[in-house]
Amino acid sequence: MSPKGRPEGEHRSAKHEGSHVGVGGPPETSDEALRASVVATALAMNAHGINRGKSGNVSARSRSERFDGFLVTPTGLAYEKTTPADIVPVTLEGQPSGSRLPSSEWRFHRDIYRSRADVNAVVHTHAPFATTLACHSRGIPAFHYMVAVAGGRDIRCAPYATFGTQALSDHVLAALDGRRACLLAHHGMIAVGGSLTQALALAVEVETLAEIYWRALAIGEPPVLTDAEMDIVLEKFATYGQPRRVEE
Ligand SMILES: [Zn+2]
Repeated sequence: MSPKGRPEGEHRSAKHEGSHVGVGGPPETSDEALRASVVATALAMNAHGINRGKSGNVSARSRSERFDGFLVTPTGLAYEKTTPADIVPVTLEGQPSGSRLPSSEWRFHRDIYRSRADVNAVVHTHAPFATTLACHSRGIPAFHYMVAVAGGRDIRCAPYATFGTQALSDHVLAALDGRRACLLAHHGMIAVGGSLTQALALAVEVETLAEIYWRALAIGEPPVLTDAEMDIVLEKFATYGQPRRVEE
C-alpha cells in the first residue's frame, strides 16, 4: 500500500533541513507547515480539555514525496515548549531522525499509517471521560446516533497492553478496523482522520459522546439504537460527508 522501494536514508540528507526548498517547493514547504500544525493540534488538544499535561501525542503523515513517513510530537517535552523544529520525522519502517526522540507511542502511529491509506493524522489523548470508560474496558455503544461519526455502529475499546508495545499497536489496529476512533483500555483514546483538523474534531466528538454516555450510565444502562437505525445514519454520513462539526 505504501510506496516502497526508495533508497533507505535518502530522506535523512536534506529533506527537513530546508536545502531542497525552493525548486518544486510544495513537498518540503508543506512539511514545514505540517510541523507547525502538529504543534498547534497538540496545544489545541489541551485547550479543548481533552488532554492534560503532556500525556497525549499527535502525528501527521508527511506530504513530502521524498519522505515516506510521518511527523510526530517528541517524548517528554511540554507542548507549550515544543517548536516545529522539535517535531520528529519517523519513517514507515520506524526510523526516527532529528534532534528529539519520538513519542513513546510512535509505534501505533506508524502502524496506522502503514495499514490505513485513508489516514493522514492521528490524535491520541488521555481524555478524562473516554479514559473513564476505558478503565472499565467499555467501548461506546450506539446509545446516541453520533456514535456513527467514528465510522461504525459503535466505538470499540482495544484490550490493554503496555504503552509503546507492538501488542498495543496490534490491539489498536483491530479496534480501528472500519473505524476512525477507538478507546484504549486503562489508557485513553485515539482518533484518526484525513487531516489534523478532522482527527482533532473527532477526538473532541468522541470525548463528548463518552461524557454523555457516562452521564446516561448514572441513570442506568441506556437502550441502544438498532443496527438498522445506525446503518441509516452511517449511510447519511457517507452520502453527505462528515457532519459539519467534524469537517470544520
Ligand atoms: Zn497514551
